[in-house]
Amino acid sequence: MVSDRSGHRSAGSGGTVPHDEGMADGVAGNEGWSKLGAEPGLCGRCRHAKVNETRKGTAYLRCTRAAWDERLPRYPRLPVRECVGFEPG
Ligand code: SF4
Repeated sequence: MVSDRSGHRSAGSGGTVPHDEGMADGVAGNEGWSKLGAEPGLCGRCRHAKVNETRKGTAYLRCTRAAWDERLPRYPRLPVRECVGFEPG
């Protein structure tokens, strides 16, 4: 269940950063996305995704839809490839 991907620190030298022109709306701080350390997959284009950053500089993705849709995990394992709640943002 637990993958060693969590807690993995990215070297920070770039890589694949989700950067779509169309997603400026709805995502408050774009900065955190580059700190996720994993490709977000569908969540990267979903209006329900929110990236939170801890004081330590770790970023994690929270699914805001999970607050009312119990089919979804609040903190989805990335990358998300299929999701019943996905809505393009
Ligand atoms: S609804 Fe699905 S795709 Fe959208 S943020 Fe939540 S888990 Fe990710």
